[in-house]
Amino acid sequence: MSNFFTDNEDLQYYFDKGIDWTPIVELTETGFRNEGGFDTTEEAVEFYRQFIEMFGEFVAEQVAPHSAAVDRHGVRLEDGKVVMAPEADAIFQQIKELELHGMCVPRELGGMNCPLLLYLMNIEVFSRADVSMMTHHGFHGGMAMAMLIFSLREGSSTYNVEEGTITETRFHDEIQEILRGDAWGCMDITEPDAGSDMARLKAVGEQDEEGNWLVSGEKIFITSGHGKYHFVIARTEKTADGDDPFAGLKGLSMFLVPAYEDNEDGSINRIVSLERVEEKLGHHGSATATLIFDRAPAHLIGQRGEGFKHMLTLMNNARLGVGFEALGLCEAAYRLARDYAAERPSMGKTIDKHEMIADYLDEMKTDIQAIRAIAMKGAMAEEESQKIRMLLQMAPPESEAERERYAKRERRLAHRARRITPLLKYLSSEKAVQIAQRCVQIHGGNGYMKEYGAEKLLRDAMVMPIYEGTSQIQALMAMKDTLGSIMKNPQRFVRRQAQARWRSLSCKNPLERRVAKLQSLSLSTQQFLMTKTATNKVKSLQSQPISEWPRSFLREWDPKRDFAFAMLHAERLTRILTDEVVCETLLEQAMKHPERGAILEAYLDRCEPRCRFMHDEITTTGRRLLSLLREDEGDVTTPEQPSAVAAE
Ligand SMILES: Cc1cc2nc3c(=O)[nH]c(=O)nc-3n(C[C@H](O)[C@H](O)[C@H](O)COP(=O)(O)OP(=O)(O)OC[C@H]3O[C@@H](n4cnc5c(N)ncnc54)[C@H](O)[C@@H]3O)c2cc1C
Repeated sequence: MSNFFTDNEDLQYYFDKGIDWTPIVELTETGFRNEGGFDTTEEAVEFYRQFIEMFGEFVAEQVAPHSAAVDRHGVRLEDGKVVMAPEADAIFQQIKELELHGMCVPRELGGMNCPLLLYLMNIEVFSRADVSMMTHHGFHGGMAMAMLIFSLREGSSTYNVEEGTITETRFHDEIQEILRGDAWGCMDITEPDAGSDMARLKAVGEQDEEGNWLVSGEKIFITSGHGKYHFVIARTEKTADGDDPFAGLKGLSMFLVPAYEDNEDGSINRIVSLERVEEKLGHHGSATATLIFDRAPAHLIGQRGEGFKHMLTLMNNARLGVGFEALGLCEAAYRLARDYAAERPSMGKTIDKHEMIADYLDEMKTDIQAIRAIAMKGAMAEEESQKIRMLLQMAPPESEAERERYAKRERRLAHRARRITPLLKYLSSEKAVQIAQRCVQIHGGNGYMKEYGAEKLLRDAMVMPIYEGTSQIQALMAMKDTLGSIMKNPQRFVRRQAQARWRSLSCKNPLERRVAKLQSLSLSTQQFLMTKTATNKVKSLQSQPISEWPRSFLREWDPKRDFAFAMLHAERLTRILTDEVVCETLLEQAMKHPERGAILEAYLDRCEPRCRFMHDEITTTGRRLLSLLREDEGDVTTPEQPSAVAAE
């Protein structure tokens, strides 16, 4: 029997050694107060192991063999209904019978009360079998959990502190329907004129005379959009400033909109019109739909104007999800390429023994280990911080010191999750495309043929750098957070620089020295971008009276103009930041488990020259292009020549 969990040594390292299950289990089991729950961490972890072993076998035996057939069949809209491949229908019937949709939902609501981390590990193994069916699967349990989190957050759930259980929740019936496998949800953000730029969203939410909410507008590219429960972002507030009163993020709210009602005879009554299902390059096991909302009855989530905040919660988890999903696809591509290369003879040996192919395979393996390292670290931080936030809201400890201890830990973990999430989304999705493309290349002509499955992986991978926020948007977020934190606390930045430089010279362990040197390079790149931004800002002040300078410099920052240079290089900076966080994570592992040192060494060998190159590109290029862009915009001032700072 094949098993996508037990055949994966690196994944098992995390399960057995790399993950500190204790805090996660304690928070998930609400301090072991939950009746019918586990009494110890060991008991819980034993159950998780049984669960993921069962799941690893299920996806290897029941999903992977049907992936090609599901891809060939695709999804179609026929007489207003979405028709999936019969093999996909059979797989989702099995998932329903195994009651897997309630994996993370609390026991008292009928779920299995598993941690998010286990769910994400399942995403990896499922995606190795077929990423598109995995996506559709994710819109079941993932949406049930989103409903619960929103309800807890807005205060429409009640909680029994002594027993550590939820007694009532606003979306109880909807959650139950999803757990039974009778419905699923989706996330409706994108519109024809607004994708990355959410400030341009036009769908509206308005109230009728009785105060009921109604949503109208068009949403496109909605994954699993033929589902019943839609989290829709729509505009409820006009903004006073700007040329377009319907622009801006503050006027957005989030709604839950049921797209249809069920009739007793099993048919449905559509409220939201399902306009079309896209024909796509890949992801043929999941439907991508266009929907028209015409005064569809809706439930407001939280308060008016909180839509962007709620969307970030959904997206953060979804971006972590893409990280694990991309990891599964990379694993599939690497193994397919490795096994083919070990069999295919060329010029007197199998191709895996030819230097260039051996180098490709080695890089693929190292990159997968790197992605998994930051995926696990990001997921652990996100899960713990989310659960501590919930604990502090629902059942705060009596002692103030204890509350403060939790709050401090929450802040630290939330900061870590926020740092890692865009880097993980960026790295994993870009690598998924590269690794799948290498897999095709290693297969030669066979890679181009459907029969071998390599081209399918490449087609499926290509959407990863696009959905849940494109790679460029992840890079902008990472750059903004990085430079923003320097501006907030420059002294801390200077201290970090000095420490990194000192460690790069003084550490006894050569791996620690190399990681510190990389950190030092990253910090000096950040300093360059910061100095360059500030220099250009100062230059722009020359046309203003000196008395205006302090106000303009401290308060009037125009992100488009003042950060142009940093935005130009945001992706290069992101590559350095990603390599830095990978190395830090692998170093932490190597300090605890010396056998992990070899992975760090392999990664450093590849990333050190890459980071030096990125640093060089950032510090020596860009002026010409920015001048051209400014000329196009009619701005005659020339940006500051970077050479002076570059020489540092
Ligand atoms: C298969 C699939 C499934 C999807 N599922 C969903 C779903 O379930 N729900 C949903 O709401 N949406 C979904 N989407 C939509 C997806 O999230 C958007 O396509 C994505 O956010 C990009 O938006 P866009 O297509 O409008 O491209 P645009 O925003 O027009 O971007 C085009 C290009 O310009 C770049 N760009 C844009 N702004 C900037 C900038 N400021 N700086 C630098 N570069 C920039 C982008 O990175 C991209 O390369 C899905 C898309 C696909 C293909």
